[in-house]
Amino acid sequence: MNYIKENLEKIRADISNKVALVAVSKTKPIRDLQVAYEAGQRVFGENKIQEMVTKYEALPKDIEWHMIGHLQRNKVKYMAHFVDLIHGVDSLKTLKEINKQAHKHNRVINCLLQVRIAKEETKFGLTNDEVANILNSDDLKSFTNVKITGLMGMATFTKNEDILNEEFSELKTLYNHHKKQHPNFTILSMGMSGDYKVGIKNGSTMIRVGSSIFGARNYIA
Ligand SMILES: *Cc1c(COP(=O)(O)O)cnc(C)c1O
Repeated sequence: MNYIKENLEKIRADISNKVALVAVSKTKPIRDLQVAYEAGQRVFGENKIQEMVTKYEALPKDIEWHMIGHLQRNKVKYMAHFVDLIHGVDSLKTLKEINKQAHKHNRVINCLLQVRIAKEETKFGLTNDEVANILNSDDLKSFTNVKITGLMGMATFTKNEDILNEEFSELKTLYNHHKKQHPNFTILSMGMSGDYKVGIKNGSTMIRVGSSIFGARNYIA
């Protein structure tokens, strides 16, 4: 499994150390994560809460765990004691549940709002207006155990750089706009295996890379 270490080194050499690399390990066995850990990787992303809990329990405790998938509210409680960043928040209802579960553990959980930037119909995420409504809501002010630290988006699945540039730059503009009023905004999560270079060119501070590190997944996750 030397390829995991080699892939990590290649990507790290490609990106500035100002860009955080989340190793997306969904569907991959624990031994693959161990290899990445031994190669120095400390931030992992998963998209199923149960799978993340199993891996959290099996692996060293200095790993930072990111939930990057669509959230099932009734499962937030299983990760509230350890999750470091939730990328895919797309409603006040979900924030309320995260706040409630974080409160039980006396923690503040960092969250990103997921914005719909792809023109494809299938992607999750908020419109620009919905982002503004959440950030300006009184409810949010009452949630003392969540902190919104930025935005996340997934571009259209394409190699067309014009489309990627357009979608990522729109998200960067939205991020800059809200950052003025929200000093907690420090993270712009955009870019995956196929498009992280374009993401970084457009101002990404955090990329989520799976298959370029661990190889193709065996099934769609
Ligand atoms: C699976 C996934 C990734 C990583 O995808 P790759 O193309 O394998 O790099 C990144 N972000 C999200 C939200 C994902 O679900």
